[in-house]
Amino acid sequence: MALQLLVAGGGIGGLASALALAQGGHRVELFEQSAVFAEVGAGIQLGPNAVRRLQALGLADALDTIAARPDTLVVRAAHDDHELARLPLGDTALQRYGAPYCCVHRADLHGVLLAAAREHADVALNHPARLTQIERSDDAVTVAADGARAWEGDALIGADGLWSVVRAELGEPGPAPRPTGHTAWRGLLSQTALPLAQRSTQVRVWLGDRLHALVYPVRRGELLNVVVLAEAAPAGDARDWDQTTSLDALQHATGRCCTTLQNYLLAVPTWRAWTLHDRAPLTGPAQMAHERIALVGDAAHPMLPYLAQGAGMAIEDAVALAASLQGADGGEVPASLQRYAQARWQRNAQVQARARRNGEIFHAAGPLRVARDTAMRLLGARLLDQ
Ligand code: FAD
Repeated sequence: MALQLLVAGGGIGGLASALALAQGGHRVELFEQSAVFAEVGAGIQLGPNAVRRLQALGLADALDTIAARPDTLVVRAAHDDHELARLPLGDTALQRYGAPYCCVHRADLHGVLLAAAREHADVALNHPARLTQIERSDDAVTVAADGARAWEGDALIGADGLWSVVRAELGEPGPAPRPTGHTAWRGLLSQTALPLAQRSTQVRVWLGDRLHALVYPVRRGELLNVVVLAEAAPAGDARDWDQTTSLDALQHATGRCCTTLQNYLLAVPTWRAWTLHDRAPLTGPAQMAHERIALVGDAAHPMLPYLAQGAGMAIEDAVALAASLQGADGGEVPASLQRYAQARWQRNAQVQARARRNGEIFHAAGPLRVARDTAMRLLGARLLDQ
């Protein structure tokens, strides 16, 4: 029996949920606060776990038109460019995991999900529509956007990101997100505009003292995504994913790095930044779903970008949510959402913890940095959770 489902947020988690739920036979009303569906952000790495789910949503061909498939991950020391570790991706990842390792521009992935959601007759996309009110009864949830029109559904899915308003409805939202003291700088380079030696088909990672940097291809290899994560005081609006910044501010935070990395930083025409925030992992399924409300993605478990699994976990959530609601009728919704939360909360908490641990390794300083570099030379990329 078809349910009427309300989804707050039109990011990767919200759009993937809307699509998966509609493909499961339900009708979906999605609300996105932005006037245009956001197309900012830079690269996102998608592990085979995420790619497999996107393929299951029927997006394999669309993904092929936007993704780069890097052949290797290479880790180097940021101060002298010395190679520390190397991990094959490409065909090796495909054979080992049954799906490729992909790198995409966030806007491209968002565009693929948006196009598929738009094409589905059972998805209605409302924007700009900022969810401001939520009311619950035993058999329905009613929401209002900007205090205007009201919509009623069998369930509300909060895919409204780090600063989720839906999360507050679950009774125990926990402490607010807190800044981690790190800023992420990002920029894009056209590969054809670069000297041959700088073009790349690899995921390149440099580990330094209290910083790490990544360069990897996106948009079928046409662009290189350059990201640096380093300690810096929050600048601008903490909620803004797209802060204006400068090379000077970035270099002030990184200090001296090897010439190879410097040359990438110097080549980026425009730098943007965002302030990283963290939130404690959930401690039980009731914080992820209660009665007729459930969370997906960053609303439930914001991920630090040290494991490259933020979008991946949101996509896994979306597919698991749809599976739990498959064939449910209105009366079965609370139990189905509980099943979903039970299936997901621990996996997400573990991935959050692994991302934090990677962050500690990536940003080790002083003697710990030396120990890390030595251990990595001996153990290779096995030291890192991929
Ligand atoms: P989000 O991507 O945060 O999406 C939440 C959505 O909900 C947003 O579109 C927001 O506008 C909307 N929303 C919030 N409150 C309301 C409300 N009250 N009513 C209606 N809508 C609401 N990750 C990276 O690794 N690299 C990047 O470069 C990167 N850039 C990003 C740029 C933007 C603009 C955003 C929003 C996120 C970015 N991310 C990036 C994060 C990454 O996309 C997410 O971690 C991951 O995809 C999880 O997505 P999500 O849908 O759970 O949350």
